[in-house]
Amino acid sequence: MQNFMMNRRQALQLGLGSMATLGLAACGSKSDTADADAAATDKTYLIVTDTTFAPFEFADETGEYVGIDVELLAAVADDQGFKYELNPVGFDSALQNVQTGQADGVIAGMSITDERKEVFDFSQPYYDSTVCAAALASGSIASLDDLKDQKVAVKNGTQSSLWAESLKEQYGFETVTFDDSATMYQDVTAGNTVCCFEDTPVMSYAISTGNVDFKLIADCGADSEFATPYGFAVNKGANAELLAAFDAGLANIKENGTYQQIVDKYVQSV
Ligand code: GLN
Repeated sequence: MQNFMMNRRQALQLGLGSMATLGLAACGSKSDTADADAAATDKTYLIVTDTTFAPFEFADETGEYVGIDVELLAAVADDQGFKYELNPVGFDSALQNVQTGQADGVIAGMSITDERKEVFDFSQPYYDSTVCAAALASGSIASLDDLKDQKVAVKNGTQSSLWAESLKEQYGFETVTFDDSATMYQDVTAGNTVCCFEDTPVMSYAISTGNVDFKLIADCGADSEFATPYGFAVNKGANAELLAAFDAGLANIKENGTYQQIVDKYVQSV
């Protein structure tokens, strides 16, 4: 078990790719780490995240997990002195892992919504987001009005998929569900679906980095009920000390400029 107890620097030396593997190994010993009598400093929290949601979490060319969420969590843990392992399990699975107690917390560009507040406790918001629709840059789909009788791609369990569902009848399209953003983009690129629904910061990043050859065709706008900020979450009523540490660390790294440095590294401020 001791082998899996690492501080942030050791974790970074190993690389987060190895952390993901260690995280799986440590899963089996979770009853040890979850022992309520264990001193807080001895506990290694298992945090789950999405597999591919740039610029929040994604594997870089060396296979190491990077991104705003990954670095925020590292900075917060460093500030608060807690240990953790980060496992990229996919968005919907991450939520389920936390709900079933298989993981302690989730950081995955997760929107804070009233519905989710029934089953999760959220940190303070750390990033504002809206949802959007995007289609092939070179294609004929230019607005939601062009979606009549077409198939559009959505990602399982997301706010943007709920936005798509809310528009479906009015615009007369059909939805096809994917587990992760990368596969969803591939489907649009291949022309099976004519557009996809996604969080705007994520789609804008994919477009600006040339990861996809898409254009934005619609956005819910900042006043929409689907425009929700991101938060770190734990299962409702569980891991209160982890949530409090996250909030305290977030406040500190906002105060000392680390938060802004991390965001600026991935997102060009205008
Ligand atoms: N922000 C969106 C949500 O919480 C999508 C998150 C994600 O796909 N990782 O529903």
